[in-house]
Amino acid sequence: MQDTTWDLNPKFDFRDEHGVRRGKKVSLAKIPTEFEGPFSGKEHGVAFKENAIDEIRDLQYQMFTEAKQSLLIVLQAPDAAGKDGLIRKVLGQMNPQGCRTYPFKVPSSEELAHDFLWRIHKATPAAGKVSIFNRSHYEDVLVVRVEDIVPKSVWGQRYEIINDFEKLLAHRGTRILKFYLHISPAEQLERFKKRLDDPTKHWKLNAGDYEARLKADLYREAYEDVFEKCNFRHAPWYIIPADKKWYRDASVAAIVRDTFREMNPQLPPVDADLDEIRRLYQRELGKQ
Ligand code: AMP
Ligand code: MG
Repeated sequence: MQDTTWDLNPKFDFRDEHGVRRGKKVSLAKIPTEFEGPFSGKEHGVAFKENAIDEIRDLQYQMFTEAKQSLLIVLQAPDAAGKDGLIRKVLGQMNPQGCRTYPFKVPSSEELAHDFLWRIHKATPAAGKVSIFNRSHYEDVLVVRVEDIVPKSVWGQRYEIINDFEKLLAHRGTRILKFYLHISPAEQLERFKKRLDDPTKHWKLNAGDYEARLKADLYREAYEDVFEKCNFRHAPWYIIPADKKWYRDASVAAIVRDTFREMNPQLPPVDADLDEIRRLYQRELGKQ
């Protein structure tokens, strides 16, 4: 039996709660990975999420028909923090006619022969569309920095280049939302175990994930720099407590919904002469 006392629109500002303060140094270690927000528990969060997804679908439809604005959703996270689950359960619920996911892996030799934004720019959303980035241009100041793939003199300049690039997208009418899924080392290890125990998840296993755990402090520093240097009103970062999958899903759904509401997409004006179309319809009906 569903508990109908749930408030599916609790007065809680998810963007305010999880948005990174501008120009401030974030200390990731001080931000909780476990959080329940305004919800009384999992069922409440799941019901809220379903409700938010319905509204997201309506607003996405309106943005698609309006064909003026667009939305870019960037997902960054440690391994097993839930990017794939979030896409499957929330973001992938949007109409695929106007929404596409782009995973960014280790760059190909062709990609490496271009500037680091070349592959990214091609995947940005056209007017009316949504792009979801599963990893992104931020890898070029995260893994690339931690693994010393290019020297500091190169990656150090990329923050400003990224900011200019995102400003260019915003200038064209693209809203940008950047999510960092924040999980605890213990929860991550628990999920690695589940992957080991489940043969259908063995394809995800990767010794590199364990290497990254050894470098967790370096990744943390690299992320903290990103949050400080690349966080603007037109392209804000949100740090999502992601130990509880249902809270991760509900809070991201809330932030996407609230952003769509603010974008306020409108159905396009009607070109057709409705009286004439009704007359034609009546004519055909009369023939039946
Ligand atoms: P996954 O998302 O787990 O399938 O793994 C994709 C891998 O590609 C991750 O280990 C990323 O760190 C890596 N990757 C993504 N972008 C880059 C990049 N620009 N340079 C180097 N490695 C990258
Ligand atoms: Mg991985």
